[in-house]
Amino acid sequence: MDLFEYQARDLFEAHGIPVLPAQVARTPEEARSAAKAIGGRVVIKAQVKTGGRGKAGGVKVAENPDEAFEKASAILGMDIKGHRVNAVMVAQAAPIDSEYYLAILLDRAQRSFLVMASVSGGMDIEEVAHKTPEKLAKVLVDPLKGIDQAQALAIATQANFPADIRDSVAKVLLDLWKCFVAEDATLVEINPLVKTNDGKIIALDGKVTFDDNAIFRHADHEVLVDHDATDPLEAMAKEKDLNYVKLEGEVGIIGNGAGLVMSTLDVVAYAGEKFGGVKPANFLDIGGGASAQVMADGLAIILGDKDVKSVFVNVFGGITSCDAVANGILQALEILGPKAAKPIVVRLDGNNVVEGRRILNEAAHPLIQQVDTMDGAASRAAELASASSGVAK
Ligand code: GDP
Ligand code: MN
Repeated sequence: MDLFEYQARDLFEAHGIPVLPAQVARTPEEARSAAKAIGGRVVIKAQVKTGGRGKAGGVKVAENPDEAFEKASAILGMDIKGHRVNAVMVAQAAPIDSEYYLAILLDRAQRSFLVMASVSGGMDIEEVAHKTPEKLAKVLVDPLKGIDQAQALAIATQANFPADIRDSVAKVLLDLWKCFVAEDATLVEINPLVKTNDGKIIALDGKVTFDDNAIFRHADHEVLVDHDATDPLEAMAKEKDLNYVKLEGEVGIIGNGAGLVMSTLDVVAYAGEKFGGVKPANFLDIGGGASAQVMADGLAIILGDKDVKSVFVNVFGGITSCDAVANGILQALEILGPKAAKPIVVRLDGNNVVEGRRILNEAAHPLIQQVDTMDGAASRAAELASASSGVAK
């Protein structure tokens, strides 16, 4: 889960990282009173979960409350990279001398944590990394040892922070590390970390991503969830305890076991190339027990996705035998009734496959087509999706 900047700001403050006074506003009037409360010059910042807000016109300075009202009117409702601005953060403006970059992230490829620090902050850090890699210090952090004061100082030195602010930058890095660990984050980023004209070091922008697998350890993170933006199908899957991830394609996928479902995605994407680039529409693992209710829940989620044009049910009978799965599919279609109106390609294999296939053949349900091989079924599902979506040229 990603946080909004204002949430990251509050989290940083709670961990002792220096930030400026700020308030959230959802209307121009609220922005005006926030500016009045904060006093003096303020910055109005679009609250959207994407970077590059500055360049997009989503960060504007206001000299007084009336100007805050005006700037907030302009920014609220804006579209920034497909994100609608529903709120702004009104923050005390900082007189900036220099802009730096500081981040800690999970580096999956290195199986480690990574600190990135640069005195060329403020701008797109990918560009710095690409054009002037020598200006971006990257230091791996042993997850068990973590970062101590001495190491934080060494990193600040390695990144060429001026000698007079190295101690303050190291202190921010140390607190950022403590925040990263305590909150189970996979990313904490400050861009820019600034030095003000009077020499203070302040985090002026924050990006935080939490590790969703650790959510059970953080009841206090629940209030940070942006329910407006949660995909309703993902919310329904979560409620039913199903592992569902929405993707961009047209072929709905149901399988049992994460490994099988992942390879099904590959096979469908590959088969889809022959049919104008049809792709899998989701990941859905119904797990070991493919009961009628679980199958019905899974099918309901997938059929509820308007992008889905065909469904591929790919089940390998193990502990749950194929006849149980076949009956589960038929009962699920009965439960769903007219809500199920898309072609379903079923491939059964494994435990008691002969009986499973016989049950489906005998039922001769108008929506169900059986194909015996995974490749053949993927191809058929892709073909059906392209036929009804008009993807194929
Ligand atoms: P981003 O573009 O989405 O990363 O948004 P940022 O919060 O990083 O803001 C973009 C830029 O706006 C920063 O790099 C600063 O140059 C500028 N900015 C943000 N806050 C302030 C402020 O308080 N005072 C001044 N003078 N500039 C600011
Ligand atoms: Mn930024």
